[in-house]
Amino acid sequence: MKKITILKYRVEPDRYSQSSKQSYGHEIRSRQKYYEDIEYVCRSCGRKDIYSAFEQKKAYENRKDYICCTRVLCQKCWRNKRNLLKLAHEMEKQYCLNKQVHLNSEKFLREWLHVLCEYKKYSYRFNHQRIRFIERHLEKFT
Ligand SMILES: [Zn+2]
Repeated sequence: MKKITILKYRVEPDRYSQSSKQSYGHEIRSRQKYYEDIEYVCRSCGRKDIYSAFEQKKAYENRKDYICCTRVLCQKCWRNKRNLLKLAHEMEKQYCLNKQVHLNSEKFLREWLHVLCEYKKYSYRFNHQRIRFIERHLEKFT
């Protein structure tokens, strides 16, 4: 009979970030010997995904993410969110380089608004004021 080896990822609380070590979650985690895959439902699209033991170890011990942070978005939505955030930063930069030109470009403002509104679908922390500001400036085109 062939032996099947299941990779196990040991919990090494010594490798956690300082703030993780001081958190309440730390005690619970330390009782756990190995990471276990966590099944969850994406907050945005409702799809099921798995936060694997390997990814958890990488996040908490290598990247030093806070141990109470868990996944709420599936891979696809997470990637979308990250791309939208990058795009939003780029547009903000472009706008700052030449405010007058961009405030008079309906195309730019519509694209910018679209990016920010899409981002809003994935995050509770979106730039409220920016959206209002763009909407106000778009009024002159209607
Ligand atoms: Zn999703």
